[in-house]
Amino acid sequence: MAKRDYYEVLGVSKDASKSDIKKAYRKLSKKYHPDINQEEGADEKFKEISEAYEVLSDDNKRANYDQFGHDGPQGGFGNQGFGGQDFSGFGGGFEDIFSSFFGGSRQRDPNAPKKGDDLQYNMTITFEEAVFGAEKEISIRKDVTCHTCNGEGAKPGTKKKTCHYCDGAGHVAVEQNTILGRVRTEKVCPVCNGAGQEFEEKCSTCHGKGTENKNVKINVKIPEGVDNEQQIRLAGEGAPGENGGPQGDLFIVFRVKPSSKFEREGDDIFYNLKLTFPQAALGDEIKVPTLKNTVMLTIPAGTQTGKQFRLKDKGVKNVHGFGYGDLFVNVEVQTPTKLSERQKDLLREFAEESGESVEEQPSNFKDKARRFFKGE
Ligand SMILES: [Zn+2]
Ligand SMILES: [Zn+2]
Repeated sequence: MAKRDYYEVLGVSKDASKSDIKKAYRKLSKKYHPDINQEEGADEKFKEISEAYEVLSDDNKRANYDQFGHDGPQGGFGNQGFGGQDFSGFGGGFEDIFSSFFGGSRQRDPNAPKKGDDLQYNMTITFEEAVFGAEKEISIRKDVTCHTCNGEGAKPGTKKKTCHYCDGAGHVAVEQNTILGRVRTEKVCPVCNGAGQEFEEKCSTCHGKGTENKNVKINVKIPEGVDNEQQIRLAGEGAPGENGGPQGDLFIVFRVKPSSKFEREGDDIFYNLKLTFPQAALGDEIKVPTLKNTVMLTIPAGTQTGKQFRLKDKGVKNVHGFGYGDLFVNVEVQTPTKLSERQKDLLREFAEESGESVEEQPSNFKDKARRFFKGE
């Protein structure tokens, strides 16, 4: 594959100034950075741009390129037998070495746009808010773009001056020992981050950081049917990006307070129905609460503890829209506690009628009765 002309890649003329080349590179690298641009071919494009910039931003390499083009000696490597070769033809391993020679790989390029950090917020909501959904405003503390300098980091009105550290070059020379011997490489200037310029005076609000930490109000839509520990993502509500990169995301993790009435398991809910002994034995019509209102439930005669009634689709609406869960009513028959003398007589009569002799098990009843009266 024929390599494109480096000037053409960056869209600059042959006599472009260093700052024009830098400007073009920053613009294009923001557009094609693989962390931002997910389109097919963006990665290749980014590599092409980076390579072009690596050569054209360096006086020696640029002069070599102007004289010999792609096929000539590049940055001195031609003398070591790599001349005339297309670097990309050496595969990943060589590219890694290549990028480490030329001042850091793209991941370490401090000028590359970087997506802001993702943030997490734990939001405690009631059972009802989870089941029915709600809209709530939360207040979170996070870094936002500085309102004074608009993220520039400079005191408004101050001018830029040539970076004192790199003298405007945007990079500084570093000597490194590599497998190919001692190599002089260039690193991006740590003071100006490669811009070649710094501000005369830093912003007094953010001290040059470009961000400030603030309480921010955010409206959160609690999805209907959300469950404990589930989360939603609010795109772009995270920390601000760097070098023009996009904002991070905010993840809201829901902590759902338990209900006093219902237990929840996924989209199904459970209700414990306490029946008196006569209700369970004789049957009854009973009002049972559901999520939205109440329903009348027919209790057949002879209902036992542990019996479960299923009310179809009376559970929670599925958060992903897959219908509704069910409401399960679990029966618990209550043994009567405080008994009047007449009630006791009736129960003895009941026992006799059932063929039991209460007198033969006196301790049971007497013990129970004694405890009831003592309030134990
Ligand atoms: Zn500021
Ligand atoms: Zn600098």
